Amino acid sequence: MKTIHFIFIFGCYIMMSSCISQRAVATYMQQKQTAANIQLSEIKVTPQIPNKHKIIPPKVIDILHSDIEVKFNWDLHQCIGKEKIILKPFMYETDSIVLDAKSMIFHEIKIENSQRKEILYLPSYNKKQLTLKLENKISSNDTILLTLRYTALPDSLVDENGKAIRNNKGLYFVNTKKDEPFKPTQLWTQGEPESNSCWFPTIDKTNEKFTSSITIELPKNFTSLSNGKLVSTKFDGDTKIDKWVNDKPMPAYLHMMAVGDFNVTKDNWNGKLDTTIRYRIENKVSSESAVDTSIQQDTPSDSLHIIAKDSVPMIETNGMEVSYYLEPSYAQNARSIFKNTVEMIDFYSNKLGVIYPWNKYAQVVVRDYVSGAMENTSATLHGDFVQKNNRELVDNSNDDIIAHELFHQWFGDLVTCKTWSHLVLNEGFASFGELLWYEYKYGKDAAQKKGYESLNRYINYAKNYSDGPLINYDYKNPDDMFNVITYQKGARVLQLLRSELGENAFFAGLKSYLTNYAYSSADIDDFRKEMEKTSGRDLQLFFEQWFLNGGHPIIDIRYDYKDSSHQLMIQIEQKQNGDLFKFPLSFKVSQGEVSKTYTFQINKKIESFNVSQIDENANSYPNVFVDPDGNFLGEIIDNKPFYNHILTYNHATSYLEKVRSLQNIVPLQNSVDTIRFTLLSAINDRIDDIRLKALEWINWNEHDNFNQVKDFLIYIANNDFNAKVRASAVRIIGEKKDSSFIDFLIKHTKDSSYTVAGISLKYLYQLAPFIALSECQYLEKDAKGELFNQITNIYSESGNENNLAYFFSEKYKIFNAQRASFITNFSKLLIKYFTPNQSQEAIRYFLERAENDTYSQVRINAFRALKQINIHKEFLLNQEGVDTSPILYFRNEIDNLNTKIQEIIQNEKSKEVLNALIIEGMYKEPVDSN
Ligand SMILES: [Zn+2]
Repeated sequence: MKTIHFIFIFGCYIMMSSCISQRAVATYMQQKQTAANIQLSEIKVTPQIPNKHKIIPPKVIDILHSDIEVKFNWDLHQCIGKEKIILKPFMYETDSIVLDAKSMIFHEIKIENSQRKEILYLPSYNKKQLTLKLENKISSNDTILLTLRYTALPDSLVDENGKAIRNNKGLYFVNTKKDEPFKPTQLWTQGEPESNSCWFPTIDKTNEKFTSSITIELPKNFTSLSNGKLVSTKFDGDTKIDKWVNDKPMPAYLHMMAVGDFNVTKDNWNGKLDTTIRYRIENKVSSESAVDTSIQQDTPSDSLHIIAKDSVPMIETNGMEVSYYLEPSYAQNARSIFKNTVEMIDFYSNKLGVIYPWNKYAQVVVRDYVSGAMENTSATLHGDFVQKNNRELVDNSNDDIIAHELFHQWFGDLVTCKTWSHLVLNEGFASFGELLWYEYKYGKDAAQKKGYESLNRYINYAKNYSDGPLINYDYKNPDDMFNVITYQKGARVLQLLRSELGENAFFAGLKSYLTNYAYSSADIDDFRKEMEKTSGRDLQLFFEQWFLNGGHPIIDIRYDYKDSSHQLMIQIEQKQNGDLFKFPLSFKVSQGEVSKTYTFQINKKIESFNVSQIDENANSYPNVFVDPDGNFLGEIIDNKPFYNHILTYNHATSYLEKVRSLQNIVPLQNSVDTIRFTLLSAINDRIDDIRLKALEWINWNEHDNFNQVKDFLIYIANNDFNAKVRASAVRIIGEKKDSSFIDFLIKHTKDSSYTVAGISLKYLYQLAPFIALSECQYLEKDAKGELFNQITNIYSESGNENNLAYFFSEKYKIFNAQRASFITNFSKLLIKYFTPNQSQEAIRYFLERAENDTYSQVRINAFRALKQINIHKEFLLNQEGVDTSPILYFRNEIDNLNTKIQEIIQNEKSKEVLNALIIEGMYKEPVDSN
């Protein structure tokens, strides 16, 4: 990779800003030097700040509005921009304007006051920030127009070691050289956390919000997407110019563009809600005004108009546009891919009592995306794994990610976390939003399953990585905040708050928070105060315990039942290291036909509670189930005897009762028959995830388990509506390696789910390789996911030179992480049937992947493939060594390839890849000269 040096073109700006005379600049520079001398004596000492807070850089300049006009050099991956920024000092007088602007070349900078009079300045630029020292101080009564012409060079961004970066470059160009035949040419942006300043100068902080317009020049046959409304499209020869206007304030990181050959499918949301949002803009313009966005673009005016406008977002009477931007070949699946979007908008608007706050909702899918998806305001961007055909949707719908990004339109976009330390206000809420959707759409069991999975992920993460506080002032890089604590624990803490406050108080609090901080930013104290205001409760302790401190409780529960007094004693001991927690804990106690739920407040290390007999007529011991609603946020060591767990399962009415009781008895399945029978019966549970868990947890090698339920397993494999359950049944049957199942497995290679088909093929191959190989010829015509993996695996092991054609035809059709195993299988077969001509094409492909692939495992496997090819060539060279053979050239080819590989490795910066290459003997860590 090469590094392009940035040149700040001083001379250029002086000539272009014709109103600034050279003499004026010289005089001004002299004055500035004197000023700098005075400032030297005023060195301030900053006191040590404990990590209970992180100093937010003061707001000096406030951006009111930004008009961004961009066009692109697609070959050089450059963005040629013109930006007009309306800004003012936030509160105090200042003589400097500092903007985030990464890896740019500036061609013109012009500063005018509200009377359109030019203000002289002295610029400096360090590749990250542009600083403009002004001739005179400006006050918060001055509204300034700053005009910038620049070229952004996102591919020239380098890290602290001078290596080119793959992520955090804001603007990404895809396949512009068209060297991947089945990949479209596109460009897209990714702002979060602070990367949009790689394509437009701005203040790239979450607490700086402004209105904006983005005008994009693009090829005529392409389609653009950006925030807000598309207000005009002008055609000019082979290009067109789309103008998007966003008239509600939002931070820089939520701005977006996507340009490519997209097919747009439109839906409509007609929902209405009798709610208006009045928004407050923190000390902006004036308390009741916002900038009129119409004036900067179209009206050449002598002064800047700041027009008071009490802006209230309203849904137009004919409904709101909901649209899906997809590659043309997926357009027919648009409504399946983005299924439920409209219903979700309706549900969230009603649940929150705050209408969807933007004037459209679009979703776009792009290639080579660097993350999962991004909630850009009114225009969510998804990675291409969301783009699925109907068979892929059988294996996995997109519900979670669609719900998550949509909920962000309220939490994150309408109200934004004030700093990254408070990211839970974005991400914890978005994850919580998924849970709300599941609860509404699929019912209590589905929501409990989601909550249970979040809790397990969090506990796992806490044990293996960190269990720090949700509000984290100690992060090094904003990227570090995007972790399981913020997402999964965040969602669970919100669920806990919901359970403690009750449904009405909790959602009234959310409504108040969304309304009072609409189009603004908030921190955790702001959120707490809103929840306190609506609930009338003091929530300091709750917020301190769950948001500001880390850790979680581990409780050990013991039970003692006294026959004589019919009293059940429950003892709870907190066993975690560190602080004690205070929390309510519920128990569902069942005796005879009666069930009652008791909630106890836990404050001390050890607490005991007595429960009297609840059913006067019952002769049985009471059965107890802790935390029946799944609100407890921690680990439970439940010393309930196993037969009580079985009892809980047998009388269970919820997902949680089932999953937790089964989980508790699984370890004893080989020694206790009743446990074994309970688990075997659970493969017929009404809840699909319980069927799946039972299939996964049963030890199929013990006690003739398999034969006892064989017919039922076949029934499940044939009929279960859940593809994961079918796949699990096929796996269990396949692992028996019984040739009487050959026909069964052949049949299931045609399952609608690629996963079921792939697993069936895998076991078919183990039983009858030749049948499997011949099935592959047929199956390869429509193979994705697991089915594709198995086909290429079988070809690599048992295929012949004819099957190489499949690898050559597919090599640009598969993407993302799936390329990793593909490359390994490809190179394995290639080496078996080596021809110099074919190898050239394959080597080119492996080199491209090693150099450019965004997935580290793909790069590792590509390097390995190249190494294997060279080893094979060495082998052939040593074997033959005759000068009549084309092998004569191998020596040169081997050396050239090694040189190329080493060149690529020099630019590799992933530790994971470099460590793998050290093991492969392809890379040596440079020895530190010190
Ligand atoms: Zn998110």
